[in-house]
Amino acid sequence: MTTKSNNQLCAVCGGELQDTTITHEEKRDSQIYLFQNVPAKVCTACGEIWIDEEVLQQIDKLIEYGAPMRKVETPVYDFPRAVAPAH
Ligand SMILES: [Zn+2]
Repeated sequence: MTTKSNNQLCAVCGGELQDTTITHEEKRDSQIYLFQNVPAKVCTACGEIWIDEEVLQQIDKLIEYGAPMRKVETPVYDFPRAVAPAH
């Protein structure tokens, strides 16, 4: 009997998971952190993205101690003010 430990199934729909890399965004207070090429699994049936606990812990560490490759400015809108007619 073989154990397929790397053949995980989607916890949402039971679909098959496929290895992929994603851009993950993580919010801390009002700051947004972007992580490119994060190893993840995507469900081939429902499209749900799964990230390993271990990877999430590494992301936590990077937010605290890591050196980002570059920074981007994030546009911020206050919605009611943005849609109000100009005076
Ligand atoms: Zn699924």
